[in-house]
Amino acid sequence: MSTEDTLPRYTEFVDRLVSALGGAAAVSAAATETTVADGWRHHPGWGTLPSEPESSAEFSYTLRQDTVAPRYRLALKAKTHLVPAQLDYVETGNGSRGHVDGVDFMFDTRPVNTPIASWRVATRQRHNDLISPLRIARKLLAPEADVSVDDAVLTLREVGRPPLRITLDPATGLPATFAVTEEHSPLGDVLVEVWFGDYREAGVLTLPHHVTITIDGVTVHDEVRSSIEISDRADDGEFAVAESAVQDGSAGQVAYAHYSTEWIMTYVLAGVRFYFDLQVAPVTPEAVDLAEGVKLVIGPSHNTMVVEMPDHTLAVEAPLYDEYTHAALAQVKAAFPGKPLRTVVGTHFHYDHIGGLREFAAEGGITVLVGEPTVPFFERIFDGQHTVDPDRFSGNPVPVTVRGVADSLALPMADGGNVELYRITNDHTEDMLIVYLSKAKLVFESDLWNPTPVEPAPNSGRGRVTTQLYEAIVKLGLDVETVVGGHNGTDGKTLAHAAPFSYLKIAAGY
Ligand SMILES: [Zn+2]
Repeated sequence: MSTEDTLPRYTEFVDRLVSALGGAAAVSAAATETTVADGWRHHPGWGTLPSEPESSAEFSYTLRQDTVAPRYRLALKAKTHLVPAQLDYVETGNGSRGHVDGVDFMFDTRPVNTPIASWRVATRQRHNDLISPLRIARKLLAPEADVSVDDAVLTLREVGRPPLRITLDPATGLPATFAVTEEHSPLGDVLVEVWFGDYREAGVLTLPHHVTITIDGVTVHDEVRSSIEISDRADDGEFAVAESAVQDGSAGQVAYAHYSTEWIMTYVLAGVRFYFDLQVAPVTPEAVDLAEGVKLVIGPSHNTMVVEMPDHTLAVEAPLYDEYTHAALAQVKAAFPGKPLRTVVGTHFHYDHIGGLREFAAEGGITVLVGEPTVPFFERIFDGQHTVDPDRFSGNPVPVTVRGVADSLALPMADGGNVELYRITNDHTEDMLIVYLSKAKLVFESDLWNPTPVEPAPNSGRGRVTTQLYEAIVKLGLDVETVVGGHNGTDGKTLAHAAPFSYLKIAAGY
């Protein structure tokens, strides 16, 4: 009997993979991997319809990473699109510490030079693993590696991370795909697949020069590597991060970094810093009054309007994810005691505005009102699996009614007026609804304009969409005195969640 016959099948699999990359000696001798790449990133949950991912950024980067230790130095430049900005920063991560130097935030392009939180470092380290067959090969070669083979798929399990499933190109033995099931709000379990191609020489190794990432089959990331250099020596100084830079996030935040990595990376590459800072509660202890029978739950980045109906409560927006929405829901339920939450309005399908919908729906007896074009998308939110990060709804899958609004819908309020939903034409999304309260003379809208605390400069809105909002209100003949935002606006000093209609008019360029 030959030795090979007695070896476990995973050893055969790993041997095949490692020899295809250049052999165990060469793979083990590699201390650092330096990748120079250009690429683009799309956002699967933005755009005007769920089927049409929006461009997040074009990027170029130089990434030097240790092939074993969790340390990297990344120089990244990107042109972002959600808010046009030029990112240009150097980020260093080492263990749970990290540091950023440069411009990394599309909303504020002043350079920073500051420690970064451990979960941001963790997100990047996981992403760096997902795009590096060399780092994964080193993990597979480690004596303590927890691996198994089923059919032609090798599974690598690491503590705190969803299992990584590896397939090889049958012809060459080179890694063809890495697959992982992640949690992507609001859909729950999604299949993230990393596809490796254009394997070529990188020193004595053979490594992929083309990497794409798909989420449930939709391509969101494409990068072409112009060079990959391997060094047999790592320079400790290059990866050094000051001890004082420790900024530990909560265990929940670090776990989130590991099971929602590519969800977070879309935001990182779009130049958004705060979405990956897991928010857990509104900023005020209870909902604030907007008018008789109308309150607002004010979040760190997103607001929820609560409306008193004759025998129940209606909420507009269920933002972010269940960790946040859970706390927001408590304020929604406390807003009008004795009146249960029965109706939730989603202004549009972008997942930062409706990621907490399942948490609201878990109350039972909920009807969700959304723009007609995205009804199937919203139904999918309630039908999907949530095994990676189980939520309250997955443990309590109560019936939910999703109802589309084709043009408009009016519902009676407790104050004798109406809640009126209008679908309006705009560049942001196809399914956009605005919410008008006839007696309070108030409009709630998201992403079309952020109300400002002082009179804004002419034409200072969010471009065409602000003008489209203003024109829609005028065309509909709505008597509006106040505009309330799903996002707060700022003058650089203070925040505002509501502003006079006259401010919108000025911001819209009228
Ligand atoms: Zn949006």
